[in-house]
Amino acid sequence: MKSILRRTGIAVVILTSILITNYANAGDDFVFWPDADYDPAIPTFEAVLGYAPGQRITWHADAIRYFEALAEAAPERISVAAYAKSWEGRDLVYVVVTSPENMARIETIKSNMQRLADPRRTSRSEAQEIIKDQPAVTWLSYGVHGNETSSTEAAMLTAYHLLASRGDKRVADIMRDTVVVIDPMQNPDGRDRFIHHFETSEGLVPDSDRIAAEHNEPWPGGRTNHYFFDLNRDWFMLTQPETQGRVKILQEWYPVAYVDAHEMSSDSTYYFAPEAIPYNPHLASDQRNSLTLFGKNNARWFDNFGLDYYTREVFDAFYPGYGASWPSYFGSVAMTYEQASVRGLVVRQYDGKDLTYPFAIRNHFITSLSTAETTAANRQKFLSEFYDYRVSAIQEGKNDSIRSYILPTQADQAAANKLAGLLVQQGVEIGRANSSFEACGQSYEAGSYVINSAQPGKRFIRTLMDTNVPMNDDFIAEQERRRAKNLDDEIYDVTAWSLPLMMNVRAASCSRNVDGDFTAQGPELMQAGTLTGGTGSVAYLVPWGSATAVRFLTQALRSGLDVKSSDKAFTHSGRRYPAGTLIITVADNASVSSASIAELAASTGADVVSVDNSWVTDGPNFGSENVVRFNQPRVAIAWDQPTASYSAGNTRFIVERQFGYPVTAIRVAQLKRADLSHYQVLILPENGWGGGYADALGEQGTANLKDWVAKGGVLIGLGNANRYLADPEIDLLSIRRENAVVEAEKDKANGNGNKNDGDEEEATVEGHYLTSNDDYRALITPEKNSPDSVAGVLAKANVDPDHWLGAGVAPTLNVLVRGPDIYTPVKMDKGVNVAVFAGAHDLLASGYMWEQNRKQLAYKPFVVIQSSGRGYVIGFTQDPNVRAYLDGLNVIFMNAILRGSAHARPVR
Ligand SMILES: [Zn+2]
Repeated sequence: MKSILRRTGIAVVILTSILITNYANAGDDFVFWPDADYDPAIPTFEAVLGYAPGQRITWHADAIRYFEALAEAAPERISVAAYAKSWEGRDLVYVVVTSPENMARIETIKSNMQRLADPRRTSRSEAQEIIKDQPAVTWLSYGVHGNETSSTEAAMLTAYHLLASRGDKRVADIMRDTVVVIDPMQNPDGRDRFIHHFETSEGLVPDSDRIAAEHNEPWPGGRTNHYFFDLNRDWFMLTQPETQGRVKILQEWYPVAYVDAHEMSSDSTYYFAPEAIPYNPHLASDQRNSLTLFGKNNARWFDNFGLDYYTREVFDAFYPGYGASWPSYFGSVAMTYEQASVRGLVVRQYDGKDLTYPFAIRNHFITSLSTAETTAANRQKFLSEFYDYRVSAIQEGKNDSIRSYILPTQADQAAANKLAGLLVQQGVEIGRANSSFEACGQSYEAGSYVINSAQPGKRFIRTLMDTNVPMNDDFIAEQERRRAKNLDDEIYDVTAWSLPLMMNVRAASCSRNVDGDFTAQGPELMQAGTLTGGTGSVAYLVPWGSATAVRFLTQALRSGLDVKSSDKAFTHSGRRYPAGTLIITVADNASVSSASIAELAASTGADVVSVDNSWVTDGPNFGSENVVRFNQPRVAIAWDQPTASYSAGNTRFIVERQFGYPVTAIRVAQLKRADLSHYQVLILPENGWGGGYADALGEQGTANLKDWVAKGGVLIGLGNANRYLADPEIDLLSIRRENAVVEAEKDKANGNGNKNDGDEEEATVEGHYLTSNDDYRALITPEKNSPDSVAGVLAKANVDPDHWLGAGVAPTLNVLVRGPDIYTPVKMDKGVNVAVFAGAHDLLASGYMWEQNRKQLAYKPFVVIQSSGRGYVIGFTQDPNVRAYLDGLNVIFMNAILRGSAHARPVR
């Protein structure tokens, strides 16, 4: 549809008239704002785009075009600037709208916010002077989930309304007392993917039937970005360019209010602040009170329009990686707004009423204006509270039980460097020690990082660096009560995200501020690696165990170097090298030069040591059978239904973008018959979209995979893809998924044990006296029950140092455990449990986990490997690649790919 509209003017007239005149539900006459008097000098939506708001879903390029038209018409009041580029090359922009007086001094307004942000250089009286005539910034962000389209249309209406309204005091106040920043599309790739699907599925008239194709997106849907990330979970890990750009500009502007506009279930109404419990304990009380102010003003306008809404349910503020959370930690009031989704132009709700696109757009339009109005009415209060937030953060940091964090120099220094850079990118001040120092009775080497919490970002530091952020006790008690009744829990996302744990970085805390000779750390995530020892006449060695060494290997293989690796640790010239250390011999690589190795070290961050002899004093020699040669594996990943798009996309991102190694995506339907013999590795991501792998692959597909593994392929299953591999009918892995442990009493009350399997069920059953509530509960508990689903905790797993899959891997890993899946360990005659969850008492590293799951997960496998013919099957019982934020699992996952392929024995 789009290309026809674009190419011929005549077609535009005919096609749009057909589509629009048949669309009776919300025609051109839909009133977005009653009694508005608009200046004709400001171009309308319709004049620029050719349709009224809500008649079509606006493509990314067209929305940009509209904002540019506004900027051309009123450059003294609106500006448009790009802040990032999506993977698919689309610009992300932010639009600034304010009075001409404010626009003329916009740089001063920004620098004033920088001054308010740092009470160490801005006294209270100076702050008060600034606040007198400083407009406050409201930041309205739209469409982070690309298939939640209505908010982008509301963004255009909001800008138009602010520029074109005449004689509206409310608008005049907003323009004079505030700066409104509009981010109209946080996820343009996802949005255009959705529109492409929608227009492809359209017929003569918009169809309100929710089973119509236009309401049902094909895999992967438009919610996520190009690598299928939920950008609304990426805020503190900053893996994606969209998030990186956004975090940078937010710290230039420091808005006092931040809105993230979403859509939710089509049968719902509208949601706004205040948010549901649990609140993150590191939020300040001022912020919680302000949420109510914004909510009340939204409610007033919803009452005027006669609209339904709700507050305080479902959407919480506990996880810090949402758009509606992250800005809170610099002192903003951050909120999520949710509109019932049309997922098209009209959809029928459960009560038979049609929900139309213009209606959905108007709701976001109303709350956008209402939010800016609240900021205008409370300008001084919010600015003062922002300053106070920064003051109290420093003050708390001076008195806290934890007053500093230290990242000591460590084996995986690259991970510590990345963690430091990541925090600096988010406004945290970090020092790097120029000489050794003491803190809380411990001594630390030069090169260690120190984060003192007496700084404006104190609450952010605690939220991300603490081992655990507790949920409110009452909330937890309520979840336990609900669980006992088999009601769903109300935990919205993961309950653990401690960065040192996720990145497997050693961190220490101290109850005192640390003094010493420190240099402020910059925002870079990686430091250039070095070559020690100059030209090696015999070999170059790369100690294994960090992401930088993995990157060195992938780039070395891609550039055609011949690389070997020792499966066991060894000692050379008095230095100990860990298992997995890379060996690049000059004999194998005639053309290698120290300059090219040094360049590779610099660009990948790996540290390389050159050696002039091959004499190993302990452990295998370079020619040992314990030293294997890498090949350059061709890596494939299963794609499309029934894979979980997050798992497929995020995994591909890690291999391609964090390690620079190409991955071929193959649709599952192709795997049934495709000749896979030219691939060495196939990854099965988590299962999550319409049916399981067994059905999707069928007998033929399973036979194809088994045959390929037997001939030397390495099959890697992630998370619940192991349900398929461990299915007794499939038996690619001999582990099995467990039911919940049945306690002895329950077993008795259920009558288990009296019943013979295979007996016909009788018309009547054995009677029971139920003498207690426990008896009753036992009787209503199903006989076969999956363990309860875990919202997301970090759990410890111990690694077998003798297996090559664990080469160079830290002895203990922190695994994000989600969902109900627990597997039996593999028996010793069948395979190896390379990483096993810790015992029940040591298991939980962070977060909230049900007691039964903790007991049942103890000593169960995280990573298992079985050889099968000439190949291997490797199962990760939890997805190591979730949100690409478990950096601590990178090495073992990349071992599976690169070392798995090196150890397989296909006929070559
Ligand atoms: Zn959303």
